[in-house]
Amino acid sequence: VDGDILVKLGQQTLEAISRFTKSIPQQGVWKDVEPGQLAADFAKEPPVEPTEYGQILQKLETTIFPGALSWQHPKFMAYYPSSSSVPAILSETVIASIGSVGLQWKSNPIGTELEVVVMDWVAQFLGIGPAFHHTSGVGGGIIQNTAGEAMLNIMICARTRMHRRLQPDLSWEDAFHQDSSSFVVYISDQAHFSVEKACRLAGLRCRRVAARLEGNFSLQPSDVKEAMEKDRAAGLKPVALVLTYGSTNTSGTDDIAAFKDFAQEDDLWIHVDAAYAGAAWSLDEFKKDSQAVSEVVTSVNMNGSKWFLCGFDSAFLWVRDRQLLLDVFSASGVYMADAGELSIYNPEFKDWSVPLGRRFRALRIWMVFEYFGTSGIRSYIQQAIDQANWLRERIEEEPKGLFEQPVTTKFGLVCVRCPSDEATLGLASRLSELGYGIAPSKICDRDALRIALGSTATTQAHVEQLWKDMLAFVQ
Ligand code: PLP
Repeated sequence: VDGDILVKLGQQTLEAISRFTKSIPQQGVWKDVEPGQLAADFAKEPPVEPTEYGQILQKLETTIFPGALSWQHPKFMAYYPSSSSVPAILSETVIASIGSVGLQWKSNPIGTELEVVVMDWVAQFLGIGPAFHHTSGVGGGIIQNTAGEAMLNIMICARTRMHRRLQPDLSWEDAFHQDSSSFVVYISDQAHFSVEKACRLAGLRCRRVAARLEGNFSLQPSDVKEAMEKDRAAGLKPVALVLTYGSTNTSGTDDIAAFKDFAQEDDLWIHVDAAYAGAAWSLDEFKKDSQAVSEVVTSVNMNGSKWFLCGFDSAFLWVRDRQLLLDVFSASGVYMADAGELSIYNPEFKDWSVPLGRRFRALRIWMVFEYFGTSGIRSYIQQAIDQANWLRERIEEEPKGLFEQPVTTKFGLVCVRCPSDEATLGLASRLSELGYGIAPSKICDRDALRIALGSTATTQAHVEQLWKDMLAFVQ
């Protein structure tokens, strides 16, 4: 790489990015395009000759940026935030310029060591206990692409562990070839579909147990017990329980502490999917929940790419016992370097999950933590809750019954509906016309709006304007 060219073109690219980011608030969130309309701007064949960089940048500005839905828009509230940040953006350039692929510790020593360091940092910050830290020498964390992939890995490990427990003499190889058709995983009917997909891919039955509404959908231990008893009576074998902390539709939480006995009595693998709301564990108010994670669960995942400023992709996964991963994912070849003796700082992450090649994602997490400090990340997380609280209070106080909250939310998500579905959908269209990115969903079979706060660009003034716009529609 020619450093001088990099600086010259890099500056031009950053200027284009800066123009784009400044233009975002002036545009609506949704893109008014039909499928294929954007692709039509590109030649059917790849370019044979190099394109002049100025033209590439021009295309970036005329076609790519306008075609990209901006999740960083102040009025973007449709999905849980995918919060990027200056250090998250710049770190991607540094990662590409280092250009190392973390196959093993030896192939990029700092890649592995920094991942160990930042996974322990994040665990500490969230209050996930020392048993899950690399420094424990037993537990540890790894960065994955997505929560869905993390949960697939976990389901495969849960299946393998159960076969070994049922047949202690089973050879390592044979543990993978056993009939798992009687194995069942229990999840809430509010769990993300990626949990169900993970069970399907791991060859496990998935039992969705109805969560009780009571405030905001939560699994009841007695309902899970009952479902398990029924399955046992039918000759099936409970293998794992996946609890959700911050469901996608309503940000409901299962009470992790209430499932403490399940791990001991039923020999279950308990996993917590905290992809979105795990970020809240950084605040004192929610520390008791990460304390429960530390006491109860086998593994837990949380996305740095959602409400955490780290940008996509950074799906954190921690396990209490790294051996459970090693038992499934360990593999090598004569072409690999001899890892030597493993210690805390040179775990071979290729033996912790599927990919051999790994991006240097830890660099992004490290730069974000250095740049903001834990105090800055915490303030960002608190800001979304404060904005959501403000909106929740306005809805609650509204005297004419024009709005209602079908569930009690506590993080950055506000769920609201009008007295009729027709009015709710009308409100959704009106807000869309006004440039908001707010997507309707269904709660208890009725239409409702999910207003997900947490974009770094969303200020209190935006939330107050949103409330005015909501009132203007219904009055
Ligand atoms: N779990 C929860 C609770 C989610 O909200 C989501 C996505 O929104 C996922 C899992 C899936 O995340 P990913 O895209 O990282 O697989």
